[in-house]
Amino acid sequence: SNMRVGSLAKCIERVISLTESEASSRGHKLTLDIERDSVIYMDRDKIVQVLINLIRNAFEAMETPGNVHVRVGQEENMAVIKIIDTGRGIPSSAISRIFNPFFTTKDEGTGLGLSLCQKIVQDHCGTISVNSKVGYGSTFVVRLPGMG
Ligand code: ADP
Ligand code: MG
Repeated sequence: SNMRVGSLAKCIERVISLTESEASSRGHKLTLDIERDSVIYMDRDKIVQVLINLIRNAFEAMETPGNVHVRVGQEENMAVIKIIDTGRGIPSSAISRIFNPFFTTKDEGTGLGLSLCQKIVQDHCGTISVNSKVGYGSTFVVRLPGMG
């Protein structure tokens, strides 16, 4: 497998470099706050893919220019990554279904992004969850076991 020990902050800097041009072309602000780095055991390309998916969803949730804030920290022994947007939010009727394969509210969506994110995170013994308020925005939270 491609599992390696590596810095989460470095991985996220890569994610930001791959998404910042899309942010600026859509007029969104993309900001990063590394409160604390974690060394984790990961398939780096897959974790990059998870975070890009979450950031793209955040861009797509904002009809007018908004902010996507990525925050990296640590709680107990878990590395915690939050992707916070100021988009349309997710109605409570949809929230239990967004991780299901093929659930989409987009004309050209596949509905596969979040189910893949969840699978990759679970393969890393982590969790993914969401908090959202319609009209205000959504926060996706990824927790991954840290190594110190
Ligand atoms: P897709 O992006 O192809 O629709 P996803 O699995 O990535 O598929 O997302 C499923 C659905 O979850 C989206 O269609 C959208 O309704 C909702 N969603 C995901 N992320 C967000 C977000 N940040 N803000 C609002 N809705 C979201
Ligand atoms: Mg998506």
